[in-house]
Amino acid sequence: MEKARITVARGDGIGPEIMDAVLNVLFSAGARVEIDEIEVGEKVYLSGNTSGIPDTAWETIKKNKILLKAPITTPQGGGYKSINVTIRKTLGLYANLRPVRSYHPIIPCRSPNMNLVIVRENEEDLYGSIEYQQTSEMTMALKLISIPGTEKIIRFAFEYARATGRTKVTCMTKDNILKITDGLFHKIFEEIGQEYPDIQKDHWIIDIGMAKLANSPEIFEVVVLPNLYGDIASDVVAEIAGSIGLAGSANIGDEYAMFEAIHGSAPKYAGLNMANPSGLLNAAVMMLVHIGQGDIAQKIENAWLKTLEDKIVTYDIARVLKENGITDYKQVGTKEFASAIVERIGEEPKVLKPAKYPLIKIKIKETRNVRDAILTLRGVDVFLDERRLKPHEIGKLLEEVQTEKLKLIMITNRGQKVYPSEITETLLTDHWRCRFESDSSITHKDIRELLERIEAKGLNWIKIENLYYIGDKRVYSLGQGQ
Ligand code: NAD
Repeated sequence: MEKARITVARGDGIGPEIMDAVLNVLFSAGARVEIDEIEVGEKVYLSGNTSGIPDTAWETIKKNKILLKAPITTPQGGGYKSINVTIRKTLGLYANLRPVRSYHPIIPCRSPNMNLVIVRENEEDLYGSIEYQQTSEMTMALKLISIPGTEKIIRFAFEYARATGRTKVTCMTKDNILKITDGLFHKIFEEIGQEYPDIQKDHWIIDIGMAKLANSPEIFEVVVLPNLYGDIASDVVAEIAGSIGLAGSANIGDEYAMFEAIHGSAPKYAGLNMANPSGLLNAAVMMLVHIGQGDIAQKIENAWLKTLEDKIVTYDIARVLKENGITDYKQVGTKEFASAIVERIGEEPKVLKPAKYPLIKIKIKETRNVRDAILTLRGVDVFLDERRLKPHEIGKLLEEVQTEKLKLIMITNRGQKVYPSEITETLLTDHWRCRFESDSSITHKDIRELLERIEAKGLNWIKIENLYYIGDKRVYSLGQGQ
């Protein structure tokens, strides 16, 4: 059978040791892969390359498309860019997958039946890092949720669930507050979910959902979330699992994918043959499933589970066992742990549930539905920087400048309507949103005329936001109290 060529980065700190251990297991299990090694990380950073990735490494990453990466040490001090963020953005790795499960009763866990996968959208939301200071007192970040980006991640979550034999996909958003952005994510989840009648679906508001995730993780199987919530949820579930040394993660794109442990380079354990290679091994298992070698993935995971069952563990797990009053374990080093796994290749665990992976590559269907919505311009929000005037004074000036077409509807401060209104309780900043709407469609020229009239009154507009309708549906949010 044809071998897959993958790129391997040994990383820093404990990276090289755990990578050696993982490659030993991979090759002993008959993984059909050939490797090209690249040097990225600390050495490259310290040689003056602030990205930490030399051009030659990029060539190899792009050629092979699959990267297995050990953790990297980011040197202290400013100016060094995160390798992970750079790789994720450059290669379009839109899905971040973090499976977390309990190994109870072998490793005691307060949620013995936990076995879930967080599927985090990886490119959009607040992680566009589009931020501004707008006035002396106000800052702003853009939360971007797109139709094609959301369709891709939702479809990925369902396909992944189906391929790996999971029966339920849960979506979490805050669409009771963010009706347009998170509302879109939820709506697309419901739409695409219909194409998967064999899979149960449910939706949780993120705050209660996150609490449930922390308290009763066993009720979830696959959880799909927008970027920021997914980032937080991933760490919440990793914490419940007990040891940071166990979990792997995958970053998946249309063409490229990167697999790594969730922990860092643990420099204080570097070179001591103590680190647990399980996180990187579990990442390598995900990689094998991704490239269509589920048979080898299954073999490796079962041998690893059997090793845990035989209570052969590295120092970190030994500590957890000891804390739980378990003493009949054998503590070994990184290398010896890998050898113990290799010895058990072909065996299956007896207490823990054996792994079962698809033997074919998980294929994500073409995702993009072309949507040609016609947006009709029906108004404008004009943002002012103003610290001298009171709401009713701004309101009065703006009523004088409103045009035949564009009428002042309201003014908000921090999203709360302050004009026309008697509310005086809310804290007022120097950042005002003034909404002008029209009964019929308007043009950019109408907006320019309005802005000129606003300027003529001595008011400082700092930003505008166009207000659209699609058909007879308003596609912008109402002000709090509007
Ligand atoms: P860390 O995850 O490296 O280590 C924290 C502690 O967790 C360690 O001291 C150790 O007690 C334990 N630990 C971690 N991995 C372990 C393993 N495999 N086996 C046994 N115990 C393990 O986090 P940190 O100390 O905050 O970060 C160290 C360096 O790693 C920093 O330079 C950081 O930037 C980097 N980092 C890299 C990545 C990555 O490359 N993906 C991720 C996180 C942190």
